[in-house]
Amino acid sequence: MLFEKETVAVVTGGSRGIGRAVALDLAREGAAVVLTYREQADKANEVVEEIEGSGGRALAKQVDVGDEKQIRFLFRDVRKEMGRLDVLVNNAGVTEDGFIMMMSVRKFEDVMRTNMTGAFVASREALKMMARERGGAIVNVSSVSGILGGEGQANYSASKGALIAFTRALAREGAMHKVRANVVAPGFVDTDMVKAMPGHTLALFQQLIPMKRVGRPEEVASAVSFLACDRASYITGETFVVDGGLLMG
Ligand code: NAP
Repeated sequence: MLFEKETVAVVTGGSRGIGRAVALDLAREGAAVVLTYREQADKANEVVEEIEGSGGRALAKQVDVGDEKQIRFLFRDVRKEMGRLDVLVNNAGVTEDGFIMMMSVRKFEDVMRTNMTGAFVASREALKMMARERGGAIVNVSSVSGILGGEGQANYSASKGALIAFTRALAREGAMHKVRANVVAPGFVDTDMVKAMPGHTLALFQQLIPMKRVGRPEEVASAVSFLACDRASYITGETFVVDGGLLMG
């Protein structure tokens, strides 16, 4: 197991896709997991049941990461109900694609609020708890779009690029409190987010991936668990790309 028995992890957006795989992997590796969701309580509860069915400990909480107050309540609850915090994975994320010339400020800011401001507020609250406990690890889920810039995804790319820069700042400030902060930047991964893409666009991108396939959520989750655990004890401020070779190609 990668984690000690008392390890407590929070995963935002843990009801589906990559966040679900991350919650399951952290639990399999020994952590108690608090997973959040925005709307799909049934999906979140299924993840909790799966973890509990394998002898693990999990809780699901409804939290809109675009709402500062809800995030503050989440960490207050984690303190009360779990007593400590060791790992935070900022995974919750949305796309609202459109070309720049047609993109409203609302559409730009909505995506920034969920993907970037939400991760900032959650990291701030987690850092306060972890600093008191002298240690922890934060993993932020960005995207290759945050490095390359995606056509029709200016808002999403800006949020994911900002998340990488934010994580470096967090890693610098966190170091004095023994808190590490890293990024996992996935390429195309088989989740609802990618299923929403037009088939021909996905087929085109797939040709550009040296491994000629999209990733599985579990293949991102194992990178997240590694960066969150003590095996990565000297890694901070790093961006770990998980993309089947897309950026390299
Ligand atoms: P997904 O299948 O669409 O799942 C999104 C998750 O985030 C769900 O659990 C959803 O909760 C939650 N969520 C969305 N908005 C939220 C909000 N405002 N507050 C709280 N939770 C919210 O997405 P995914 O593909 O797994 O993506 C997960 C992360 O990986 C995202 O940050 C995404 O940008 C990133 N990523 C994905 C890919 C990819 O190819 N899939 C590639 C690169 C990066 P509900 O179930 O309640 O709606």
